[in-house]
Amino acid sequence: MIPLLLWRRNWCKFMNIKKGDNVKILKGKDAGKTGKVIRVSEKDNKITIDGLNVFKKHSKPKRQGQKGEIVNVVRPLDVSNAQIVCPSCNKATRVGHRINEKQKTRYCKKCNAAI
Ligand SMILES: [Zn+2]
Repeated sequence: MIPLLLWRRNWCKFMNIKKGDNVKILKGKDAGKTGKVIRVSEKDNKITIDGLNVFKKHSKPKRQGQKGEIVNVVRPLDVSNAQIVCPSCNKATRVGHRINEKQKTRYCKKCNAAI
């Protein structure tokens, strides 16, 4: 059980997408659209993108006489369904990692620029 936990932890550290990144959605109802990541959940590998993957939720009236409302809810989506948009070449790209003794940096696999 311990090796698996360690492996999971290491794998989580290699999350390619960070908060504030611009990403393009590859699958789902908003496929092809781009947006900014506002939340990253490393635990279940999900990201929430500002204004995308919005679903309507019906809320029940809380008090008598009040009407139920339809609320827009932004649902998180799986990281594997999104790709980062490179700020240098403006394309949806895969991300590589460079590790030096001080830190880990991400780079675009299409134009090689650091992200
Ligand atoms: Zn690029």
